[in-house]
Amino acid sequence: MGCPRWKPDTQFKKLVLEPEPDERICSHCEHFTYIYEHRDRRLYTMDDGPVHLVSKLAHCPVKDCPGHAEVSVAVAEMNLAPPRWMIDWKLFLWMGHRRFARSWSVPQIRSEMKDSFGIVVSPDLIEDYIRRYQTMVAARESDPRRMVDEYRKVKSLILTIDGLQPEKGHETLYVVRELRTQRIWFATPLLSSAEEEIKHVLEQAAAWVKRVGKPVKLWISDKQQAFVTGIAKVFPGIAHRYCANHFLRDVAKPVLEIDGHAKVQMRRKVRGLRDVERRILSERAPLTPAVQDASPPPVELAAPVAPPRIPKAPSPNAAAAPMAMEAGISSPESRDRADADVVLAYAATIRGILNDDQGGPLDPPGLRMAGALQEVRGSMQRCVKRKKGGLAKAI
Ligand SMILES: [Zn+2]
Repeated sequence: MGCPRWKPDTQFKKLVLEPEPDERICSHCEHFTYIYEHRDRRLYTMDDGPVHLVSKLAHCPVKDCPGHAEVSVAVAEMNLAPPRWMIDWKLFLWMGHRRFARSWSVPQIRSEMKDSFGIVVSPDLIEDYIRRYQTMVAARESDPRRMVDEYRKVKSLILTIDGLQPEKGHETLYVVRELRTQRIWFATPLLSSAEEEIKHVLEQAAAWVKRVGKPVKLWISDKQQAFVTGIAKVFPGIAHRYCANHFLRDVAKPVLEIDGHAKVQMRRKVRGLRDVERRILSERAPLTPAVQDASPPPVELAAPVAPPRIPKAPSPNAAAAPMAMEAGISSPESRDRADADVVLAYAATIRGILNDDQGGPLDPPGLRMAGALQEVRGSMQRCVKRKKGGLAKAI
């Protein structure tokens, strides 16, 4: 990964590691080993930031013992980071988790590393370690010995196949999963869903089944033609069931259509958020800089913030909090300002609710939107009840 380039003013925390006494016994002649050298390396760590690691090297003092030519280092060094890495395991796992479990982008990971750990690295470095992370996960997932081991207690297999298109116009990724252990077995990109190509994927699945050595009880898919014929050919006599999810989605189509229509209606009804925000922000402009500093910059609230995945109406307490602050606020300007902040918070919440499109037939987004908007309305009414006048006027 090239030579690390550290900024000249980087402050390193020094960490000295040497083999523990029980790691100091020569494995060949059981002599106590000598420290004869040390190795320097510099790396980022999650807990201590940039670290200058001094690792003491030991070897057997007996000249004609094979242990003399061997280098022994503290086990703690590998526990911190593998050789030549520029980040420690903790940062490595954090990056991989944010990327794959939370779907963060590289720039997002990069800024969060800076904000949370004060670590500034290049996007290239992050990409490089994310690739290593993928390689490690893939190696672990497809390790045949591990697989056989995990299936030792499983009586039979339930397999599914599904075609996913990560991006429109791209090739489709065919994913074969096993449901007893909830494992993704493998994924293959195919340019077409022609029967011949699908058959290859299924033959690959058959090879995995053979390796695991357990009978297939059931195949589940959306039953597209190529799956039906392919499974019948490669897995003769094995039951092939309709995927409940796909089935439900198809059955629920009319419901989702009505739900989508309701969503449009609600969006049409709840309008003018921008105008309300714009009015507040323009009224706010003439305030003196001292007061400006007292609260978060208005730009942040006005910007079209990414909607939270599951929008939540502010709890009555949260919404009331800025109002409770009033006790300590004396000037009428700051009181108006606190009111305005409440309105802006509501506007942001409502926008999040209106933009939320997640959910399938069992959790229709329109239904959820209606519930969330109801909650907001209830919360607003509680606010207005507590303080007649100001807030009602603003909304
Ligand atoms: Zn020795």
